[in-house]
Amino acid sequence: MVNDTTLLLGLDGVAVTKVVAAGDGAQDGPVVHLSTADERARCCPQCGVAAVRMKEWVTTRPRDLPMGGRHCRLRWRKRRWWCDQQRCPRRTFTEQVPQIPARSRLTRRLRQATGAAVGDGGRTVIQSARDHQVSWPIVCAAFTEHARQVLPVQPEPVSVLGIDEIRRGRPHWVLDEATGTWSTAVDRWHTGFVDLSGDQGLLGQVEGRTIAAVTGWLNQRSQAWRGQVAFVAIDMCTIFKSAVRTALPRARLVIDHFHVVQLANQALTEVRRRVTVQIRGRRGRKGNREWELRNRLTRSAARMHACQLDPMVDDLHALGRIGTPILAAWNAKEDLLDLARTHPDRTVIADRLFRFYDRCAASGLPELERLATTIDTWWPEILTFIQTGITNAGSEGTNRVIKTVARDAYGFRNPENQRLRTRCATTRKGRGCLNPA
Ligand SMILES: [Zn+2]
Repeated sequence: MVNDTTLLLGLDGVAVTKVVAAGDGAQDGPVVHLSTADERARCCPQCGVAAVRMKEWVTTRPRDLPMGGRHCRLRWRKRRWWCDQQRCPRRTFTEQVPQIPARSRLTRRLRQATGAAVGDGGRTVIQSARDHQVSWPIVCAAFTEHARQVLPVQPEPVSVLGIDEIRRGRPHWVLDEATGTWSTAVDRWHTGFVDLSGDQGLLGQVEGRTIAAVTGWLNQRSQAWRGQVAFVAIDMCTIFKSAVRTALPRARLVIDHFHVVQLANQALTEVRRRVTVQIRGRRGRKGNREWELRNRLTRSAARMHACQLDPMVDDLHALGRIGTPILAAWNAKEDLLDLARTHPDRTVIADRLFRFYDRCAASGLPELERLATTIDTWWPEILTFIQTGITNAGSEGTNRVIKTVARDAYGFRNPENQRLRTRCATTRKGRGCLNPA
């Protein structure tokens, strides 16, 4: 017969015998006295035979989850038994139930909650420790156990893979005494693999951004997994390009509009700075119109109001020798923006691309010639973006989560722990931890 208090406590294997209210002004909750309610508790942990001869009574004080916001003090009065089996090396043992293992000072559900608060709740280890009134190492161990349970050992198949780099910590070099050369012991760059088609988040991370590092991770996946990857979104990085060509020869590479626009804006800014220095003999400053327009120049004309756009173009015309090259670079950037819009007709793409190349060639500006060369080099990948609209934004978003987690934790010493934490944080959505109550 289960009493109401036992039902309320909901701790399997034990029954509440009595509850003693805490005194006035006491910080802790009431004292809850427990007795064993599971017949299997008296089975010897080594031979499994139920014991019949009791040795003594013992009381343990396992900590548990708060009840109604108060930390109840559990007192489990249980028996120590003799194991009378001839062949069993165990002489005595105390009772244990799955929720309260022998010698454990915490209930299993408390331990599990401390780890889940970090892995699923986005709490830091120290805050979870404060909330549950346990120590930092306990939460860390509980989190690791939780993460190993919720994270799949091998990632599920993905059709669109994102590869991006992220900086972590400081680089370390070691001196090779024999040759007198320095080699990298700890690389500051890490490469992340992100599921862009599903919600698996960060699939894995490796140290370094070399071809060997990227192909190494990809080759650890099964042949079937690699065969499923249809598209790989990257930034304009030749290392990733060669690595994907080697390890995933059938996947199509994608460069998204973000990286194209970023490159165009860089070229525009370089033109503006160079022309200013050449003609004014110094850097731009307040009072120089082209310097005052620097932020407006890198904005998309489609997102600007006519009352901002028209005066800007007029001002650039009025600036003469300074304004003309800046305007040419700005037009080239706008051409590229037009080009990077998704799903247009093939002839439209060809027209826009021709107009962009034509403008770059006609300008005679070295920055624009370099920009055109880069676009030409990466054109097949950019075209794939225009046709499919696949972006690497998910990877960039994952990088933001990695940074946020690292900042909340005040940094990580151990890259293994950091990866577990980051993978838990980026897979929270897929695991249903971000759904509103
Ligand atoms: Zn035994």
